[in-house]
Amino acid sequence: MPTDSTSYCRVCGAVENDAAINGDFLPWICPACAALEKKIASEVIQRINSMPYEKMLALNRFTPTGEGFFAHRETGEYFAMVMARKRAEVGPAAHTGTSKAIGWGGHDEHV
Ligand SMILES: [Zn+2]
Repeated sequence: MPTDSTSYCRVCGAVENDAAINGDFLPWICPACAALEKKIASEVIQRINSMPYEKMLALNRFTPTGEGFFAHRETGEYFAMVMARKRAEVGPAAHTGTSKAIGWGGHDEHV
């Protein structure tokens, strides 16, 4: 994904076009994500960043509202941003396959 002339926010994937001018290559983080990271424990940030997309999708789908990573607004926001970036990275076809593989629980799903 990254090219030598463009940096992407390592959290949300936002593009920083001035990065090359500043000599500031990956890993770069946009101001919004940097502010968010300051409010979240570093081990939580690490867990979210190292999580496979499939696991994130399952947590997002099955974690009850207000629990786990979604117990705090900042953590939930951060989780959503990282998940959106990973979704873009895996692409729509892989997302659909992963989504079907996870299913919606509750009853058997044959896919
Ligand atoms: Zn960002």
